[in-house]
Amino acid sequence: MPAEFVKALPILQKIRNSGYEAYFVGGSVRDVLLHRQIHDVDIATSAYPAETKQIFEHTIDIGIAHGTVLVLADGDEYEVTTFRTEDVYVDYRRPSHVNFVRQLSEDLLRRDFTINAFALADDGQVIDLHGGIADLEAEILRAVGNPAERFNEDALRIMRGLRFAAVLNFDLESKTFASMKDHAHLLAKISIERIFIELDKLLTADYWHKGFRDLLAIEAYPYLPDFSDQTALARLLALPSDFKFTNSVQAWGYLAHQLGATDGKFLLKKWKVSREFSSAVSDFLTAYHKRQQGDFSPEDLYKLGKSSLTLVEELFAAQNLETNFEHISVLDSQLQIRSRQAIAVSAGQIMTAFGIQPGPQIGQLYHQIELEIVKGQLKNTPQEIFNYVKRNFERT
Ligand code: ATP
Ligand code: MG
Repeated sequence: MPAEFVKALPILQKIRNSGYEAYFVGGSVRDVLLHRQIHDVDIATSAYPAETKQIFEHTIDIGIAHGTVLVLADGDEYEVTTFRTEDVYVDYRRPSHVNFVRQLSEDLLRRDFTINAFALADDGQVIDLHGGIADLEAEILRAVGNPAERFNEDALRIMRGLRFAAVLNFDLESKTFASMKDHAHLLAKISIERIFIELDKLLTADYWHKGFRDLLAIEAYPYLPDFSDQTALARLLALPSDFKFTNSVQAWGYLAHQLGATDGKFLLKKWKVSREFSSAVSDFLTAYHKRQQGDFSPEDLYKLGKSSLTLVEELFAAQNLETNFEHISVLDSQLQIRSRQAIAVSAGQIMTAFGIQPGPQIGQLYHQIELEIVKGQLKNTPQEIFNYVKRNFERT
């Protein structure tokens, strides 16, 4: 048992000593069996939330309606969730009601995929009621129970399935695959933020090539904003399958490029990503187009940042195009300023020294100074800047 589980064992034992069942469940059990790094340790129990709260001294109600109590112990927090079943899904994404139950088997039945439906007892025994171990060994992703029902209940599971395939390099079991395809249209009803999270994890996964191929194969793209151009999407697969995106900006930026976007605005508007993310994608796209026209200039580095330039260069490398990472390093080492604030003289100081009135003139002049410094044609010292103004201002 990994350290994270060993540390949480007293929680399971305390629940058991109070007469209830308790197990580790969810993705962490799957990841342990796959010898992968685990993140969150989830606990499921037959105790109802009120009963869980009586067992522990320090708890926080974080999702009582869904059966989840946060237990605080030894400086750590654990989500302890009552075994539950879910009622009719009203809007294809959230159960209208959850029922607390005493049977572990009923709880495991509501989980999405067989490899996510294990329970691990405190004695190390794995409870595998849906053939998850066999699927782990065969590297197959299979829906628990009837796939059509499962995707009909919650279409987000389609995206989760593609994401797990991309993270784990698992094949979609044939009925699961067929059913994903049949229900892909239900993705139109799922909140775009939640789809983004899954697609983002897919694109930045080691086996994104596989996950993205599956996404195209189940014909999910017509239900994703601005993804209708299948040929454009398929161009992403021209990247070598062993290439891995460095980060989300690079992945979405390159995808946006294939889709013919010139900036990241469609991500902001239709995919509801953060303003920061959308603008980072815009910088990436600008850098990509600059690079297609030739080498980067000092201004490119100044305006778009070293990260955008490097992400673009990595994609050029992936496409076997000529690259020059060294050039970016050289530009970077030569850059005198990283922002306007770093200019050795303020606009106000220049106005005072030369008796310039507020207005467009000073704005333009200061911008010119900034550019000259960035290009390395003007030294960023008060003396050089004042001399520059003298030469240029007095002429105008
Ligand atoms: P991750 O590695 O991203 O944390 P995970 O499998 O742990 O993956 P979570 O979203 O943390 O995913 O959910 C924990 C568990 O809850 C899952 O393993 C699965 O058993 C169940 N689960 C989560 N989302 C769904 C869903 N939409 N439908 C059915 N079961 C789900
Ligand atoms: Mg998890």
